[in-house]
Amino acid sequence: MCIIGAGAAGLALAHALTLRGINTVICDAGKAGQGALAASAGMIAPGAEIWETRSSAHPLAGAFGALARHSAALWPAWAGRLQAQTGIDIAYRASGALLPASPGMAEWLARHGFDALALDADEARSRIPGLALQEGALFLPGDAHLSAPMLASALIEAITARGVTLNENARVTRLERKEDGGWRVRLAAGGVIEADIVVLAAGWAAAELHPAAADIYPVKGQALMLDARAPLDWPLLRGGDVYMATKPGGRLLVGASTEPGRSDDRAEPDMAGTLLARAARHVPDIADMAQLAHWAGVRPALPGLMPRAGLAEPGLVVSLGAYRHGVMLAPALAEGLAELIAGGRVDDALAPFAPGTVNEGLSSAE
Ligand SMILES: Cc1cc2nc3c(=O)[nH]c(=O)nc-3n(C[C@H](O)[C@H](O)[C@H](O)COP(=O)(O)OP(=O)(O)OC[C@H]3O[C@@H](n4cnc5c(N)ncnc54)[C@H](O)[C@@H]3O)c2cc1C
Repeated sequence: MCIIGAGAAGLALAHALTLRGINTVICDAGKAGQGALAASAGMIAPGAEIWETRSSAHPLAGAFGALARHSAALWPAWAGRLQAQTGIDIAYRASGALLPASPGMAEWLARHGFDALALDADEARSRIPGLALQEGALFLPGDAHLSAPMLASALIEAITARGVTLNENARVTRLERKEDGGWRVRLAAGGVIEADIVVLAAGWAAAELHPAAADIYPVKGQALMLDARAPLDWPLLRGGDVYMATKPGGRLLVGASTEPGRSDDRAEPDMAGTLLARAARHVPDIADMAQLAHWAGVRPALPGLMPRAGLAEPGLVVSLGAYRHGVMLAPALAEGLAELIAGGRVDDALAPFAPGTVNEGLSSAE
């Protein structure tokens, strides 16, 4: 079988398949893990995500919450196994997340099944010194984060050590149905790979390869790494239009812009200033931190901002449109699709997101 795209979706699925004794070929247009995955803040924060998007009216909102919680619960075992298998520490931290409180927030989160601890301003500042806060805050203990670049390295190491063939600089240009029902995967460089099963996991660029991906669109995101000058032990700080995640080595990641329709990966100085100003509104000392890096990545989005995962037609599986949740959802999507491929079983958590269900044909006016 052949997976198109070695990003969060493709690498995680290849890993889940190796654990079931199935080795694949993966083709990536560039270097593995260097798409949106490399740009990611690595947050596994179902509570904060669901509060900030608050799209309870969406027909898949409940199913999305369940999928996100299920995936977050798989992460500790995934992180431990990757470390045991590769020796690479992906810096998984069960840090929790802190959100400035707003009216109705605690009740809303409780109604949607999330534990949240109310903190007054002093208690919040004991977790994040220097936090500027008028009212109190909520602490969500179930949220976590990891290092996305280290995750990419660990997944690549884990799958190649188990015999997966990773073809880098191998852009797929066309999928053709063979007479016997399998696929011919055509590469830009002229080669052809024959496969019984193809998985389309090519991020925002998947649209041109199959009608099941035709409505995917890019959403650019820019982020910064700052020098915090000392190791910080903060929970994730989620401020609505900005978030902060401490990273090993005394660094602080600040993200991210949301720029629908843009597929370039230029890091623009104006946006660095905007992100820094937004972060400093929450923790003024951040304004004095030196910038270590500024980058951009392109998230894959589908109308309704829900993922699409499952069988699109016989022998063609898709893992598409994880938008700003591809790291958080990676274990659940990978385990669910690996079960589908290995045993033909449709995972309950993934069933609502299968191609051809309600998540096709939604309006893109989100
Ligand atoms: C700034 C930023 C911050 C983010 N923070 C978070 C976060 O905190 N938590 C979270 O869960 N998510 C986060 N995300 C989102 C997350 O990165 C994405 O949801 C995830 O990477 C999507 O995975 P993917 O495999 O679909 O796409 P990608 O990771 O982009 O992988 C797709 C791969 O397909 C390859 N490809 C494309 N076209 C072809 C082709 N024709 N042939 C072969 N290969 C091809 C690409 O080269 C790429 O490597 C963030 C994203 C950005 C930009």
